[in-house]
Amino acid sequence: MSNKVHLGHTARKRFGQNFLTNDTIISRIVGAIAPDNDHVMVEIGPGLGAITEPVAESIDNLCVVELDRDLVERLQSHPFLKDKLTIHQGDALQFDFRQLKQAGKKMKVFGNLPYNISTPLMFHLFEFAEEIETMHFMLQKEVVLRLSASPGTKAYGKLTVMAQYYCQVVPVLEVPPSAFTPAPKVDSAVVRLLPFDTKPFPCEDVNVLRHVCTTAFNMRRKTLRNNLKTIFTDEEFSQLNVDSTLRPEQITVEQYVALANLLCQKQA
Ligand code: SAM
Repeated sequence: MSNKVHLGHTARKRFGQNFLTNDTIISRIVGAIAPDNDHVMVEIGPGLGAITEPVAESIDNLCVVELDRDLVERLQSHPFLKDKLTIHQGDALQFDFRQLKQAGKKMKVFGNLPYNISTPLMFHLFEFAEEIETMHFMLQKEVVLRLSASPGTKAYGKLTVMAQYYCQVVPVLEVPPSAFTPAPKVDSAVVRLLPFDTKPFPCEDVNVLRHVCTTAFNMRRKTLRNNLKTIFTDEEFSQLNVDSTLRPEQITVEQYVALANLLCQKQA
């Protein structure tokens, strides 16, 4: 039988379907998620239920967002899960996670994410950070390295700055390709993202921060001064104590926020 068929379902590459099949890894992920009824529990891409089933065992209700209609049908007729799940068929990238809000409860969001959309999905989820208590995601290991990178390293970029603006980022577990069916071509890792209740470096307008980061990291080999010369003068860099002769990956999250806040003031 093809290694793309799992539990009678042929994995669809376009939906990034690599199903978790290693019970030890699944238990460790469920332990990290710590499911409970005090939060709105949300899974992105439940697939054939590898994480869904053990999570649902200890809670009353689990919201899931799944794009593949065939998998949604299977979940709807699953003997145990059908009574536990609130199923949203659709694209998590377009999904308004605020609609899952319940009075007095924050969300715990998790998933073994489709790798082809994981970076835009991270940016989309950051928009709901205030409603979220914890996020646990299986991602390409390289993406986890980018999320958790320190300034001055190759992995440090726009995704790092935006993730660490919103969240504390904690790598949890590395996962080999053999833990999935079909096996992905890359190594994977689980990351925990803990949105800050109070942001260490608050920004007046997060869209401006995103714009500054996009422009700064446009050409990584150039200096900050070169990349941002249409936005900031040399005096403004000095005023903020930002060394503009450095490369974009050498600037801290705090400094990017300071630049964004200055731009907000200039635009006011
Ligand atoms: N959770 C299952 C597991 O661990 O075995 C499946 C994980 S598989 C890597 C990714 C899942 O996300 C698949 O079920 C896939 O159909 C679903 N998916 C893909 N693109 C999606 C999207 N844009 N929105 C929601 N779900 C999506």
